[in-house]
Amino acid sequence: MKIRCEARSDVGRKRKGNEDALALDEEQRLFVVADGMGGHAAGEVASKVAVDAIEDFVRLTGGNEEITWPFGLDDSISYDGNRLKTAIRHANRKVLEATRERSDYEGMATTVAAVLVDGDVANLGHVGDSRVYLWSGGQLVQLTSDHSWVNEQIQSGVLSAEQARSHPLRNVVTRALGGRPDLLVDIQSRRVKPGDVLLLCSDGLTTMVTDDDIARILRESAADIGAAAQGLVDAANERGGEDNITVVLLAFEE
Ligand code: CA
Repeated sequence: MKIRCEARSDVGRKRKGNEDALALDEEQRLFVVADGMGGHAAGEVASKVAVDAIEDFVRLTGGNEEITWPFGLDDSISYDGNRLKTAIRHANRKVLEATRERSDYEGMATTVAAVLVDGDVANLGHVGDSRVYLWSGGQLVQLTSDHSWVNEQIQSGVLSAEQARSHPLRNVVTRALGGRPDLLVDIQSRRVKPGDVLLLCSDGLTTMVTDDDIARILRESAADIGAAAQGLVDAANERGGEDNITVVLLAFEE
């Protein structure tokens, strides 16, 4: 299956720097969004280190069946699911190593949402509150579940989705690269078909723009994913642009 991809990353209206990072590796069919956290521009470092480490690992293991698996193989998930999971755990180590290099990098961390495509299977990996959505048959489905404090409150029925959207702790993630050495990564594999679109995004989009509005923008611009990507960024900025906004759109074609 062919993939067309488009991405936008925007500083937004309130922040001085852009701490998001992304990768579009069409050769490896790897697509990544990372949202860094940490003072003194350390967030920018964390997201960049993570994205580079994931790309490096996936590139090094492409077509190479003799991979050594530093964290072991998980036989409940696909081969490429294992590659992606290992790449993200490897990236976690790289971020942790980097935090020890300079005192002002201490405490820096990053989310990751990544897609590695093999034929008509999209392998998804994520940590934190960057998301992957599927647009298919005119429906928008959030495929990932945020590792965030507010999402835990929603799951346990304490907060409604609407309350979570404006909650002061809405930016608190409960899992990130740069935290613990034994990082848990959520991996899933999904079959995709021509016409499907995957959206990877940082929370600068989803805290500003509702799922209904994301769906409306995709419906209006699905044929032109470049326009759709720009439309999503513009919508987040029109609603305040309180955070960096990064979107990656992948359109699957015959
Ligand atoms: Ca963010």
